[in-house]
Amino acid sequence: MFKVNENFAKLPGSYLFANIAKRVSAFQAEHPEKEIIRLGIGDVTQPIAPAIIEAMHKAVDEMGHAETFHGYAPEQGYDFLRNIIAKEDFQEKGCDISADEIFISDGAKCDCGNIQELFSLDSVIAVCDPVYPVYVDSNVMAGRSGLYNGETGRFDKIVYMPCTADNGFLPEFPKEHVDLIYLCFPNNPTGEAIKKADLQAWVDYANKNGAVIIFDAAYEAYITEEGIPHSIYECEGAKTCAIELRSFSKKAGFTGMRLGFAVIPKDLKCGDVSLNAMWMRRQGSKYNGTPYIIQRAGEAVYSPEGKVQVAEQIARYMKNAKTIYTGLKDTGFTVYGGVNSPYIWLKTPNDMKSWDFFDYLLNNAGIVGTPGAGFGPSGEGYFRITAFGTYENSLKALDRIKNL
Ligand code: PLP
Repeated sequence: MFKVNENFAKLPGSYLFANIAKRVSAFQAEHPEKEIIRLGIGDVTQPIAPAIIEAMHKAVDEMGHAETFHGYAPEQGYDFLRNIIAKEDFQEKGCDISADEIFISDGAKCDCGNIQELFSLDSVIAVCDPVYPVYVDSNVMAGRSGLYNGETGRFDKIVYMPCTADNGFLPEFPKEHVDLIYLCFPNNPTGEAIKKADLQAWVDYANKNGAVIIFDAAYEAYITEEGIPHSIYECEGAKTCAIELRSFSKKAGFTGMRLGFAVIPKDLKCGDVSLNAMWMRRQGSKYNGTPYIIQRAGEAVYSPEGKVQVAEQIARYMKNAKTIYTGLKDTGFTVYGGVNSPYIWLKTPNDMKSWDFFDYLLNNAGIVGTPGAGFGPSGEGYFRITAFGTYENSLKALDRIKNL
């Protein structure tokens, strides 16, 4: 009989969103007349900006003519997109990143999940807690973890770095040696950002200890404050210790279109071995390129009209974030995030458990959010609300909460 990858058996079921959906449909079945406001999932709601749609129409037409038809895309991505990314996202912002260090992909989730393939199976990984689950799950599947401990909510052999109000939602350096450090700032789910000096300290730590940082900057476009790095390459020495992952999903509403990229600097090496060359080899074998039409859509995000339109969309979400953040604060909640990210992370009142607060909000206000405990044990006692809904619904939700 064939054998399966037994590491998969270590993974507990993906309870979080399935569990939420189950509770929401039970509530809706019992109260069909009640309107539910969904501020739980992290998906965008505004349509793709007109400049991007126009670019896609043009690209679609090109595909219908032999002279302009495009087949397989280059596995690293088209030059037109890599060049504009290198220039606008990095070089013009003082980061020395070139187009051949950029790898276009179909989104940050795949890159987050796949990047671990570059590292030895005995690498020790460190993750923040609470955390975007893909970092842990992909390493568990690959065999870098021990068993899941239901009591602690953690996997053996993975180093968890708690991020709570006590440490300002910033991870502390691990006490033991780690090889791979996953950092995500601005953070999902806490919504908190990292200051440049704090990120610089992580870069210095990684260089000193021979570790690699996987820096997930999926929410970079939501940064509103000065002094918050948009890229890890703003930090000195990051090119020898960091990989950065970016996404067009939250930046330009591409959740259903699929576009992102990984930055792997040529200076990032293990002895003589270049991680850039390894990823090129990996993509050449396992990836056949992001569709031409989508890459043209991505290019349009950087056009003068595209930039204005995308900035307007983000501003609309951030207006929701500010409204929710301030409204909850005025009502007496302790709230975090929401300033440099579309996520508001609130402390549940009276030390309620995250899931109890979820049920309370659903049953009494018809509002769906995400229990913090679903992102890791240190998320217990917290609750995530997203700003990706409409302004009207954000106001309505606030009103219902105030009237509780
Ligand atoms: N990284 C983080 C932290 C996220 O929250 C998400 C999506 O919610 C992703 C990556 C995935 O982004 P993409 O849609 O580009 O796959």
